[in-house]
Amino acid sequence: MEKYFYIDYEQAKRRFKPIVNQAHKGIQGHALIIGGSYGKIGSVCLSAKACLKSGAGLVTVYVPKCGYEIVQTVMPEVMVLTDECNEYISSIQTTLSIQVIGMGMGMGLHKETQQAFFQFLKMNYLPIVIDADGLNILSENKTWLENLSDKTVLTPHRKELERLIGIWESQEQMLEMVKEFSKKYNIVIVVKGAPTMIVYKNDVYVNTTGNQALATAGSGDVLTGIITGLIAQGYDMIDAAILGVYLHGLTADLAVHETSYNSFIASDIIQYLGKAFL
Ligand code: AMP
Ligand code: MG
Repeated sequence: MEKYFYIDYEQAKRRFKPIVNQAHKGIQGHALIIGGSYGKIGSVCLSAKACLKSGAGLVTVYVPKCGYEIVQTVMPEVMVLTDECNEYISSIQTTLSIQVIGMGMGMGLHKETQQAFFQFLKMNYLPIVIDADGLNILSENKTWLENLSDKTVLTPHRKELERLIGIWESQEQMLEMVKEFSKKYNIVIVVKGAPTMIVYKNDVYVNTTGNQALATAGSGDVLTGIITGLIAQGYDMIDAAILGVYLHGLTADLAVHETSYNSFIASDIIQYLGKAFL
Protein backbone atom coordinates (compact mmCIF):
# COMPACT_ATOMS: atom_id res chain seq x y z
CA MET A 1 0.00 0.00 0.00
CA GLU A 2 1.64 3.15 -1.13
CA LYS A 3 0.98 6.48 0.50
CA TYR A 4 1.54 10.00 -0.83
CA PHE A 5 1.77 13.06 1.40
CA TYR A 6 2.26 16.73 0.60
CA ILE A 7 4.75 18.60 2.75
CA ASP A 8 2.92 21.86 3.38
CA TYR A 9 3.12 24.41 6.19
CA GLU A 10 1.03 22.24 8.56
CA GLN A 11 3.11 19.11 7.92
CA ALA A 12 6.34 21.02 8.47
CA LYS A 13 5.13 22.85 11.57
CA ARG A 14 3.84 19.65 13.15
CA ARG A 15 7.39 18.27 13.02
CA PHE A 16 9.17 21.40 14.20
CA LYS A 17 10.59 21.19 17.75
CA PRO A 18 11.33 24.57 19.34
CA ILE A 19 14.65 24.85 21.15
CA VAL A 20 13.93 24.74 24.89
CA ASN A 21 15.10 27.63 27.06
CA GLN A 22 17.33 25.36 29.16
CA ALA A 23 19.18 24.31 26.02
CA HIS A 24 22.96 24.30 25.89
CA LYS A 25 25.22 23.48 23.00
CA GLY A 26 25.76 19.96 24.36
CA ILE A 27 22.12 18.95 23.98
CA GLN A 28 21.78 20.68 20.60
CA GLY A 29 24.03 17.99 19.19
CA HIS A 30 27.44 17.75 17.59
CA ALA A 31 27.61 17.16 13.83
CA LEU A 32 30.62 16.05 11.81
CA ILE A 33 30.76 17.25 8.19
CA ILE A 34 33.19 15.25 6.05
CA GLY A 35 34.17 16.24 2.53
CA GLY A 36 36.11 18.57 0.31
CA SER A 37 39.13 18.24 -1.96
CA TYR A 38 41.49 20.76 -3.59
CA GLY A 39 39.34 23.43 -5.23
CA LYS A 40 36.11 22.17 -3.64
CA ILE A 41 36.40 23.22 -0.01
CA GLY A 42 33.56 25.72 -0.47
CA SER A 43 31.00 22.91 -0.61
CA VAL A 44 31.97 21.83 2.91
CA CYS A 45 31.80 25.42 4.14
CA LEU A 46 28.25 25.73 2.81
CA SER A 47 27.16 22.47 4.47
CA ALA A 48 28.80 23.28 7.78
CA LYS A 49 27.34 26.77 7.96
CA ALA A 50 23.86 25.54 7.06
CA CYS A 51 24.21 22.85 9.72
CA LEU A 52 24.97 25.41 12.44
CA LYS A 53 22.29 27.78 11.16
CA SER A 54 19.75 24.96 11.52
CA GLY A 55 20.42 24.75 15.24
CA ALA A 56 23.17 22.17 15.74
CA GLY A 57 25.11 22.99 18.91
CA LEU A 58 28.57 22.11 17.60
CA VAL A 59 29.94 21.43 14.14
CA THR A 60 33.30 19.91 13.30
CA VAL A 61 34.44 19.55 9.72
CA TYR A 62 36.88 16.96 8.40
CA VAL A 63 38.73 18.15 5.30
CA PRO A 64 42.05 17.53 3.53
CA LYS A 65 44.86 19.72 4.87
CA CYS A 66 44.41 22.33 2.12
CA GLY A 67 41.00 23.14 3.62
CA TYR A 68 42.20 24.04 7.11
CA GLU A 69 42.69 27.79 6.78
CA ILE A 70 39.77 28.19 4.42
CA VAL A 71 37.26 26.70 6.83
CA GLN A 72 38.70 28.46 9.88
CA THR A 73 38.62 31.77 8.05
CA VAL A 74 35.14 31.42 6.62
CA MET A 75 33.55 30.17 9.85
CA PRO A 76 34.99 30.97 13.27
CA GLU A 77 32.14 28.97 14.86
CA VAL A 78 33.29 25.68 13.31
CA MET A 79 36.04 23.30 14.50
CA VAL A 80 38.34 21.69 11.93
CA LEU A 81 40.04 18.31 11.74
CA THR A 82 42.33 17.60 8.82
CA ASP A 83 43.27 14.50 6.93
CA GLU A 84 46.96 13.67 6.63
CA CYS A 85 46.73 14.26 2.88
CA ASN A 86 46.80 17.79 1.48
CA GLU A 87 44.50 17.58 -1.54
CA TYR A 88 41.95 14.86 -0.84
CA ILE A 89 40.68 12.66 1.97
CA SER A 90 42.79 9.52 2.36
CA SER A 91 41.65 8.08 5.71
CA ILE A 92 38.97 9.11 8.15
CA GLN A 93 39.86 8.72 11.79
CA THR A 94 38.04 10.44 14.59
CA THR A 95 37.36 9.75 18.22
CA LEU A 96 34.95 12.66 18.53
CA SER A 97 31.68 12.25 20.38
CA ILE A 98 29.16 13.16 17.68
CA GLN A 99 25.49 12.51 16.93
CA VAL A 100 25.44 12.63 13.13
CA ILE A 101 27.61 12.78 10.04
CA GLY A 102 27.01 14.71 6.81
CA MET A 103 29.30 13.46 4.09
CA GLY A 104 30.37 13.54 0.46
CA MET A 105 30.27 17.19 -0.63
CA GLY A 106 33.18 18.11 -2.91
CA MET A 107 34.97 14.96 -1.78
CA GLY A 108 36.10 13.79 -5.23
CA LEU A 109 36.54 10.21 -6.42
CA HIS A 110 40.22 9.56 -5.73
CA LYS A 111 40.84 5.82 -5.15
CA GLU A 112 42.18 6.50 -1.65
CA THR A 113 39.13 8.61 -0.84
CA GLN A 114 36.88 5.77 -1.99
CA GLN A 115 38.68 3.29 0.30
CA ALA A 116 38.59 5.74 3.22
CA PHE A 117 34.87 6.17 2.69
CA PHE A 118 34.32 2.39 2.62
CA GLN A 119 36.35 1.81 5.81
CA PHE A 120 34.37 4.58 7.49
CA LEU A 121 31.00 3.16 6.37
CA LYS A 122 31.88 -0.30 7.65
CA MET A 123 32.49 1.04 11.16
CA ASN A 124 29.74 3.62 11.27
CA TYR A 125 26.53 3.02 13.20
CA LEU A 126 25.59 6.72 13.64
CA PRO A 127 22.98 8.58 11.59
CA ILE A 128 24.55 9.69 8.32
CA VAL A 129 23.47 11.96 5.44
CA ILE A 130 25.29 11.10 2.20
CA ASP A 131 25.42 13.51 -0.73
CA ALA A 132 27.30 14.29 -3.95
CA ASP A 133 30.57 12.33 -4.34
CA GLY A 134 29.56 10.07 -1.44
CA LEU A 135 26.66 8.97 -3.68
CA ASN A 136 28.91 8.71 -6.73
CA ILE A 137 31.31 6.45 -4.82
CA LEU A 138 28.40 4.23 -3.81
CA SER A 139 27.28 4.11 -7.45
CA GLU A 140 30.73 2.88 -8.48
CA ASN A 141 30.79 0.28 -5.69
CA LYS A 142 27.19 -0.89 -5.30
CA THR A 143 28.04 -3.75 -2.91
CA TRP A 144 29.09 -1.12 -0.36
CA LEU A 145 25.42 -0.14 -0.02
CA GLU A 146 25.10 -3.21 2.23
CA ASN A 147 27.28 -1.40 4.77
CA LEU A 148 24.98 1.59 5.21
CA SER A 149 23.68 2.21 8.72
CA ASP A 150 19.89 1.88 8.94
CA LYS A 151 19.91 5.54 9.95
CA THR A 152 20.97 6.74 6.51
CA VAL A 153 19.59 9.55 4.35
CA LEU A 154 20.76 9.74 0.72
CA THR A 155 20.22 13.05 -1.10
CA PRO A 156 20.68 12.45 -4.85
CA HIS A 157 19.62 14.84 -7.59
CA ARG A 158 18.15 13.08 -10.63
CA LYS A 159 21.51 12.36 -12.29
CA GLU A 160 23.03 10.97 -9.08
CA LEU A 161 19.90 8.89 -8.59
CA GLU A 162 20.20 7.45 -12.10
CA ARG A 163 23.77 6.37 -11.39
CA LEU A 164 22.57 4.72 -8.19
CA ILE A 165 19.42 2.89 -9.31
CA GLY A 166 19.57 2.88 -13.13
CA ILE A 167 17.51 4.51 -15.87
CA TRP A 168 13.73 4.92 -15.71
CA GLU A 169 11.15 5.66 -18.38
CA SER A 170 8.54 7.51 -16.37
CA GLN A 171 8.17 9.30 -13.07
CA GLU A 172 5.97 6.42 -11.82
CA GLN A 173 8.63 3.87 -12.68
CA MET A 174 11.31 6.00 -11.01
CA LEU A 175 9.29 6.16 -7.80
CA GLU A 176 8.76 2.39 -7.83
CA MET A 177 12.50 1.87 -8.24
CA VAL A 178 13.30 4.28 -5.40
CA LYS A 179 10.77 2.60 -3.10
CA GLU A 180 12.34 -0.81 -3.78
CA PHE A 181 15.79 0.67 -3.14
CA SER A 182 14.62 2.24 0.13
CA LYS A 183 13.08 -1.06 1.26
CA LYS A 184 16.12 -3.10 0.29
CA TYR A 185 18.55 -0.99 2.31
CA ASN A 186 16.08 0.38 4.89
CA ILE A 187 17.10 3.99 4.24
CA VAL A 188 15.52 7.36 3.43
CA ILE A 189 16.03 8.79 -0.07
CA VAL A 190 15.61 12.49 -0.80
CA VAL A 191 14.99 12.66 -4.55
CA LYS A 192 15.97 16.27 -5.27
CA GLY A 193 14.42 18.25 -8.10
CA ALA A 194 11.25 20.14 -8.87
CA PRO A 195 9.52 18.95 -6.81
CA THR A 196 11.76 17.21 -4.30
CA MET A 197 10.28 13.94 -3.05
CA ILE A 198 11.27 12.04 0.06
CA VAL A 199 10.86 8.29 -0.17
CA TYR A 200 10.88 5.88 2.72
CA LYS A 201 9.74 2.36 1.82
CA ASN A 202 6.20 2.82 0.42
CA ASP A 203 5.74 6.39 1.61
CA VAL A 204 6.36 9.36 -0.67
CA TYR A 205 6.42 12.92 0.70
CA VAL A 206 6.18 15.61 -1.98
CA ASN A 207 7.58 19.04 -1.09
CA THR A 208 5.55 22.16 -1.85
CA THR A 209 8.20 24.87 -1.35
CA GLY A 210 11.09 26.01 -3.53
CA ASN A 211 11.54 27.46 -6.98
CA GLN A 212 14.01 27.79 -9.85
CA ALA A 213 16.20 30.19 -7.86
CA LEU A 214 17.53 27.02 -6.17
CA ALA A 215 19.04 25.86 -9.46
CA THR A 216 22.43 27.25 -8.47
CA ALA A 217 25.87 25.94 -7.42
CA GLY A 218 26.03 24.69 -3.85
CA SER A 219 22.28 24.54 -3.33
CA GLY A 220 22.36 20.82 -2.55
CA ASP A 221 25.35 21.17 -0.21
CA VAL A 222 23.29 23.55 1.89
CA LEU A 223 20.40 21.07 2.01
CA THR A 224 22.72 18.35 3.32
CA GLY A 225 23.87 20.71 6.06
CA ILE A 226 20.31 21.57 7.08
CA ILE A 227 19.19 17.92 7.31
CA THR A 228 22.38 17.00 9.22
CA GLY A 229 21.81 19.89 11.63
CA LEU A 230 18.27 18.77 12.35
CA ILE A 231 19.33 15.17 13.01
CA ALA A 232 22.04 16.49 15.39
CA GLN A 233 19.24 17.96 17.50
CA GLY A 234 17.37 14.68 17.75
CA TYR A 235 14.98 14.74 14.78
CA ASP A 236 14.55 11.28 13.28
CA MET A 237 15.69 10.68 9.69
CA ILE A 238 12.30 11.22 8.02
CA ASP A 239 11.30 14.27 10.03
CA ALA A 240 14.71 15.86 9.42
CA ALA A 241 14.45 15.20 5.68
CA ILE A 242 10.88 16.54 5.51
CA LEU A 243 11.49 19.67 7.57
CA GLY A 244 14.90 20.26 5.97
CA VAL A 245 13.58 20.08 2.42
CA TYR A 246 10.62 22.30 3.31
CA LEU A 247 12.81 24.99 4.94
CA HIS A 248 15.40 24.86 2.14
CA GLY A 249 12.67 25.53 -0.43
CA LEU A 250 11.01 28.17 1.73
CA THR A 251 14.19 30.27 1.85
CA ALA A 252 13.99 30.67 -1.92
CA ASP A 253 10.27 31.48 -1.82
CA LEU A 254 10.90 34.16 0.79
CA ALA A 255 14.03 35.55 -0.84
CA VAL A 256 13.21 35.98 -4.51
CA HIS A 257 11.15 39.11 -3.90
CA GLU A 258 14.33 40.76 -2.66
CA THR A 259 17.10 38.91 -4.51
CA SER A 260 15.40 38.08 -7.85
CA TYR A 261 15.60 34.57 -9.31
CA ASN A 262 18.82 35.47 -11.10
CA SER A 263 20.87 36.75 -8.20
CA PHE A 264 19.90 34.18 -5.58
CA ILE A 265 22.92 32.02 -4.66
CA ALA A 266 23.49 29.15 -2.21
CA SER A 267 24.77 31.51 0.50
CA ASP A 268 21.37 33.24 0.31
CA ILE A 269 19.68 29.96 1.31
CA ILE A 270 21.76 30.09 4.50
CA GLN A 271 21.05 33.79 4.96
CA TYR A 272 17.29 33.29 4.69
CA LEU A 273 17.18 30.20 6.93
CA GLY A 274 16.35 32.37 9.93
CA LYS A 275 13.28 33.81 8.21
CA ALA A 276 12.24 30.35 7.12
CA PHE A 277 12.44 29.02 10.70
CA LEU A 278 10.41 32.02 11.93
P1 AMP B 1 22.23 20.06 -6.16
O1 AMP B 1 21.98 19.76 -7.60
O2 AMP B 1 22.80 18.92 -5.41
O3 AMP B 1 23.00 21.33 -5.94
O4 AMP B 1 20.81 20.31 -5.49
C1 AMP B 1 19.97 21.31 -6.00
C2 AMP B 1 18.90 21.69 -4.97
O5 AMP B 1 18.10 22.74 -5.48
C3 AMP B 1 17.94 20.54 -4.68
O6 AMP B 1 17.47 20.66 -3.35
C4 AMP B 1 16.81 20.81 -5.67
O7 AMP B 1 15.59 20.28 -5.26
C5 AMP B 1 16.77 22.32 -5.70
N1 AMP B 1 16.32 22.80 -7.03
C6 AMP B 1 17.08 22.88 -8.15
N2 AMP B 1 16.32 23.36 -9.19
C7 AMP B 1 15.08 23.56 -8.70
C8 AMP B 1 13.86 24.05 -9.27
N3 AMP B 1 13.76 24.41 -10.57
N4 AMP B 1 12.76 24.13 -8.46
C9 AMP B 1 12.86 23.80 -7.16
N5 AMP B 1 13.98 23.32 -6.56
C10 AMP B 1 15.08 23.21 -7.31
MG1 MG C 1 24.79 18.38 -5.19
